[in-house]
Amino acid sequence: MSLSLLTPEFKVIRDYDRCINCKVCMRQCAFEVHYYDEETDKMMADDMKCVDCLRCVTLCPTQALTIIKHPQVYRDNANWVPEAIRDIYKQAETGGVLLAAMGNPKPYPIYWDKMVINASQVTNPSIDPLREPMELKTFIGRKPDRIEVDENGELKTKMPPQIELNTPIMFSAMSYGSISYNAHASLARAARELGICYNTGEGGLHKDFYEYGPNTIVQVASGRFGVNKDYLNAGAAVEIKIGQGAKPGIGGHLPGEKVSEDVSQTRMIPIGSDAISPAPHHDIYSIEDLAQLIYSLKEATNYTKPVGVKIAAVNNVAAIASGIARAGADYIAIDGFRGGTGAAPKRIRDSVGIPIEFAIAAVDARLRSEGIRHQVSIVAAGSIRNSTDVIKAIALGADAVYIGSAALIALGCHMCQQCHTGKCNWGIATQDPNLVKRLNPDIGARRLVNLINAWSHEIKEILGGMGINDIESLKGNRLMLRGVGMTEKELEILGIKAAGE
Ligand code: SF4
Ligand code: SF4
Repeated sequence: MSLSLLTPEFKVIRDYDRCINCKVCMRQCAFEVHYYDEETDKMMADDMKCVDCLRCVTLCPTQALTIIKHPQVYRDNANWVPEAIRDIYKQAETGGVLLAAMGNPKPYPIYWDKMVINASQVTNPSIDPLREPMELKTFIGRKPDRIEVDENGELKTKMPPQIELNTPIMFSAMSYGSISYNAHASLARAARELGICYNTGEGGLHKDFYEYGPNTIVQVASGRFGVNKDYLNAGAAVEIKIGQGAKPGIGGHLPGEKVSEDVSQTRMIPIGSDAISPAPHHDIYSIEDLAQLIYSLKEATNYTKPVGVKIAAVNNVAAIASGIARAGADYIAIDGFRGGTGAAPKRIRDSVGIPIEFAIAAVDARLRSEGIRHQVSIVAAGSIRNSTDVIKAIALGADAVYIGSAALIALGCHMCQQCHTGKCNWGIATQDPNLVKRLNPDIGARRLVNLINAWSHEIKEILGGMGINDIESLKGNRLMLRGVGMTEKELEILGIKAAGE
């Protein structure tokens, strides 16, 4: 093997006045950055291996460590930026596709931050959520064309099956295999306590988590891992995964090293074998084929559960969503190009798909114009970072949102983007038993519950400020948004006015 041309990206700085040689950093780093040098009786670091996950910095008992971007610079060049050069070195060394994880980090505009929210002043007075009831309950699923009530005011119309959520936020699909048992346990427990849902992703449902069924969405992906009748009937809803925002148009790949005994049983595949989901479902080549699968799944679950379809946000997302609604889906989950992933080809993660903000607005407008908006709910995903992103997504037309990366950050993820290596030092994106146990599911669940409760409080406050007391009244209410620093075309697609209009 020839000499690597790569240089370190990060530099470990150790304050030797503080370091007590306790070796915590050495034991905690799965990337083997830290080592003890007997000759000098000092802890040392191999900067080349550092991924900036900050585990050592956080756990060092004397705050002796700091990680910085490596000060070594390439000569200034606006075109050949260091990342472009480094990627070429890597591919020249390996001959392989560049793998990456988590979401697209490129500096595309973040449209959430170019939208501001309205508030009431004088007329239509604001509502104080501490003193007046404020409703965040959300129902995901097809709504009837019209509602009939009997003479006593009781509902006569039979409602199609719905997912009932106490707040319009769910945990998005993350498979057991891509994330750890303890991460799944945290999500499942938090979903149950919050009265919302988490999502199995494409990896099947571990036998221990069947008890969380009423708060579980079970996914059916192209690989059909872990799919059987019990699995389909275990959840509150079934979701067909067509695509995902981080890697539209391609399938999935869970490396054999992450297929432990438990993962193999859950996925119904041999231990240590690569789990490859094909890019397309081999039985879906048209909307009619999709309709057949939707109705097969409804049949398998005796028409008791909503069946949703998850797609990546791409150019013609509105037309695709219209087809999905007409195929009989009860909800459409749309995942924008910043959505996270356990592993994706870097070029696809960073360059394929569109921002979720435009996708929500385009889909909602299309379904309204066709008079079928009530037939299907919209769940938006792809980098929802805080409660105002939730509000803006719903005002643009979503019924609810999925959060994935934000949920993992609540569990301790530090966005080092190394999930595909299986060495997650925070016990999240790993199957290594020594790493998995670093995440305590009770603490994880508590942190997730706190996060969603905090966001829900903020949503209520902001709704109150708008003079709205029910999240339903915000849905598609684009008058509540204004754009700042956007082009006419961007405002037109989002269906919002400019600030001051
Ligand atoms: S964890 Fe901190 S104190 Fe302990 S060896 Fe590492 S740098 Fe030194
Ligand atoms: S889940 Fe773990 S490996 Fe993945 S980005 Fe977060 S900290 Fe890094």
